[in-house]
Amino acid sequence: MNNGGNDCQRISRRVALSGAALALGTAAIATAVSQAAAQQKISQADAKYQGTPKGDQHCDGCLNFQPPNACKFVQGDVSPSGWCQLFTPKS
Ligand code: SF4
Repeated sequence: MNNGGNDCQRISRRVALSGAALALGTAAIATAVSQAAAQQKISQADAKYQGTPKGDQHCDGCLNFQPPNACKFVQGDVSPSGWCQLFTPKS
């Protein structure tokens, strides 16, 4: 007996399932991106923030510093004499 039709249906189902998984993955990424966009700041740990200057680089001399103790890109309080890897010198 020819049951090729059944195989075919099984394969289509598998393709449909992986398509659904892909769609779910895309939705998860979209959610993460929109959360990041809404938050717009990263944690101090991710920025490798430290409360002390790095050489002559410090938040007070950084374009992203928002006096008296905030940063455009890093969450929480930052010290004028702190530093992180997003340091961008004021021109
Ligand atoms: S050095 Fe980092 S934490 Fe400090 S102001 Fe610049 S970007 Fe923000």
